[in-house]
Amino acid sequence: MTRRWLWFFAKVALLVAVAVWLVRRPGTVSIEWMGWQVEMRLAVLALAVLVLMALAVGLYRVWRALLGGPGLWRRGRASGRKEKGYRALNQGLVAVAAGDADSALKHARKAEALLEGAPLALLLSAQAAQLQGDEGAAERFFQAMLAGKETAFLGHRGLLTQALKRGDRAVALEHARQAQALQPKAEWPASAVVELEAASGNWLAAEAALDKAQRAQAITPELARRRRAALLVEECRADLAAGRLEEALQDAQKAHDLYPASVPAAVHLAKLRARSGNAKAASRAIEQAWKLSPHPDLADAWVDVADTQDPIARVKRAEALVALDPRAADAHVALARAGMDARLWGLARTHLETARTLAPTARVYRLLAELARAEHGDGPQAREWQAKLASAAPDPAWVCGSCGTQAHGWAAVCPHCGGFDTQAWTTPGPTLRLAAQADEGPAALFSPTSRPTRLPAPSDKAAPLVGQASQ
Ligand SMILES: [Zn+2]
Repeated sequence: MTRRWLWFFAKVALLVAVAVWLVRRPGTVSIEWMGWQVEMRLAVLALAVLVLMALAVGLYRVWRALLGGPGLWRRGRASGRKEKGYRALNQGLVAVAAGDADSALKHARKAEALLEGAPLALLLSAQAAQLQGDEGAAERFFQAMLAGKETAFLGHRGLLTQALKRGDRAVALEHARQAQALQPKAEWPASAVVELEAASGNWLAAEAALDKAQRAQAITPELARRRRAALLVEECRADLAAGRLEEALQDAQKAHDLYPASVPAAVHLAKLRARSGNAKAASRAIEQAWKLSPHPDLADAWVDVADTQDPIARVKRAEALVALDPRAADAHVALARAGMDARLWGLARTHLETARTLAPTARVYRLLAELARAEHGDGPQAREWQAKLASAAPDPAWVCGSCGTQAHGWAAVCPHCGGFDTQAWTTPGPTLRLAAQADEGPAALFSPTSRPTRLPAPSDKAAPLVGQASQ
């Protein structure tokens, strides 16, 4: 600013100096032109020349403005439209996040009219249509997104969700594959292909898809290992059902080697090893898994490895398990049960009491009541334990991290929601029960209303893409 003022003062000073110079040197100028004669003082002439020059500059500026005007005006108007369009887009996205369907639709229409096919405007329109429950319109917007290079990937995602909502797994798989082809390193399409194949029970195809995802580094090596182990356990089960024992053993061994913490892998391996007479290898497999994730099924399999109906031999076997880790409640429960089978009431009671201090859950009270009945009949003691059972903490179970459903046994695919690799051995808590009530499927993948974060993350707790569709 100061520079401009300095410049202004310099110009004024120059003018004043010139004016003073002229005034001090008086004289007249005479002009003769086409019969006219004009005589004027030099100062007046100088002033006239200055005024003419200023006029010329002014006229030139007006001319320039008139020439460039319409373009400038057009540009100004276009940027105004864009600004309004982006404002509508922002407001629309906020409305989508808030679940305000009417407002979302209003802003989506505005953004689309102002931004003319901008990728985000299409996405907003699709989401607004979904909020309105207009699946047909949502589908059309997602289809339109397939035409654009930038939007095709998201279009496939939207169409995958729509297909799952309809329960059309084949179409969903096709969109997952196409999205994967567009961005092989992206996690969700790679996982979606694996999950969709697994949900259909195509274990081998799911394994091939897992290989592909891992090669493209779309999923972490740890997750890939765990998921491959889950698939191998299911392959092992299919082999067992078909009587292919050798293949079943190989699958179980591979699953256990890949993911030693897998309870079902270790149990299957131990049973198959014990069946082929290799009790040592069977015990080793259970021991490895037991250290990483103690589980009642492992304890049962451990006792079964002894392959004897002799109750005392089974007690001895269970005692060996307790010795492995005296803080494992499951081992004490297993030993108590073996003790009850052998009618060793005192031993059973001791280990049930230990289990009660370690993990006072329902099964301990159930066994204590059973023990009291076996020892003394249906007396006050048995009734006391029975009463405590009613208010005891629930036992751990295989709980689906996606839908919260508890299952009796482990399965690679949740029998309720169809999520792949979602079960975890855990205590069913109130949050999980809540999850079970929120009976939402994979449709929520793109649904902005209740679960905007349902996008599968490349973590161990990845939410499944495949859900209700399996119902
Ligand atoms: Zn589930």
